[in-house]
Amino acid sequence: MRIQVLGAAGEVTGSCYLVETFKARVLVEFGLHQGGAHTEAKNRRIPKPIDPASLDAVVLTHAHLDHSGRLPMLPRAGFVGPVYATPATIELCDILLRDSAYLQEMDAQRTTKRRMRRGRGPVKPLYTTADVEQLLPRFKHAPYDTPTQVAPGITARWIDAGHILGSASVQLTIEDKGARKTVVFSGDIGPRGAPLLRDPRTFDRADLVLLESTYGDRDHPPIEASIEKLAQICNDARTPEGKVLIPSFAVGRTQQLVYFLGRLRDSGKLDSPRVVVDSPMATSATALYKRHRDLFDDDCWAIIDAGDGCLDFPGLRFTRDAKESMALNKSGDGLVVISAAGMCTGGRILHHLKHGLWREETHIVFVGYQAEGTLGRRLVEGAKSVRVMGEPIRVRAQVHTLNGFSAHAGQTELVEWLATLRDSGPRVLLTHGEDPQREALSAKIDEQLMLKAELPEWGHTVEL
Ligand SMILES: [Zn+2]
Repeated sequence: MRIQVLGAAGEVTGSCYLVETFKARVLVEFGLHQGGAHTEAKNRRIPKPIDPASLDAVVLTHAHLDHSGRLPMLPRAGFVGPVYATPATIELCDILLRDSAYLQEMDAQRTTKRRMRRGRGPVKPLYTTADVEQLLPRFKHAPYDTPTQVAPGITARWIDAGHILGSASVQLTIEDKGARKTVVFSGDIGPRGAPLLRDPRTFDRADLVLLESTYGDRDHPPIEASIEKLAQICNDARTPEGKVLIPSFAVGRTQQLVYFLGRLRDSGKLDSPRVVVDSPMATSATALYKRHRDLFDDDCWAIIDAGDGCLDFPGLRFTRDAKESMALNKSGDGLVVISAAGMCTGGRILHHLKHGLWREETHIVFVGYQAEGTLGRRLVEGAKSVRVMGEPIRVRAQVHTLNGFSAHAGQTELVEWLATLRDSGPRVLLTHGEDPQREALSAKIDEQLMLKAELPEWGHTVEL
């Protein structure tokens, strides 16, 4: 049997692995490459070793697009099998993949216009909503802790990864020509003690581990300091013209913020806060989180048992309508607006920034990573003037960065996660991290667990 690394090798996006035995072929993840060099070209080409028509199944760890975002390309390329994922992941994929298709279509339209003006031909989107609709019925439920046969001789088990709703690490038990091997895919591992979700779990044996290394070189600062700071900013903004704008990813981070704002209100640190989640996708994702409250952790259940909601409090509302969203521009008095996109690359946050950035009374709070080249990054770096929706705007707002929020485990937690597999003497491959991060993690693993972790390049193949 062999396992091939076909993405997220020395980078954090484009996760993809091919598992082949004498009688089966399973793809694990098929994620989009995001940012970085030659992204477009890398996404358009289905890697040579993958023959979609011959795949028995796809196994998915979670819904984030860097893990799921190329799946809609498969049916058109001849794939007819099932895609196994946890029930919450399947519902999140419905939201995220439709949105991704819409963005691909818009992108292709814009590029086509530009090309036509130069006398060149049109371009097709990477995939369309119709492709997503072809894919969605292929999803099959794989609940946590329930071994599921996904292909002849290959059984998979999903366990909680504590990263986003429905996220999992997956263990494949593979039988081939009388041999039996265990391969563990960590997926993205969440930090311990994160709100709402249960802590990540791990397996007790593996012959091969593919471990993520996004933050392999560091531990995150404690979240408590960021929450205190958030309360202070919200209280400082309680002036007639004051407002707090929080650019946030729609899935995961927005729900964490709502949770923390609710707890700050309960503990009296925020006096009757007014909070608006202004993003149709975040609104749908929050409703989905609430429907899957069976996946919440004990702290959250204690709140529910006491008769309150984890994602509800007086003063919190959600907007879908664009007119309602526009009307928020006129409000002040410390109104907190949580809106996407998280790096200010599009979405409703742009019109809030256009109306708020030039005012001293506005507070902009960044709670997530800001990639190079984004408006978010320019603001974090202290730009005095920026362009928003084509208009130059003076930045007079107060810009804050809170570093304590993370959906990923830090170095210490990654090593501890791997430690439970150590006694089975696995080969370890570090993926889903840039080289400085995985090199640092590899050194730490060597020092603490005396295991030699490998740093695979694209196309690297392991024979078991
Ligand atoms: Zn993820």
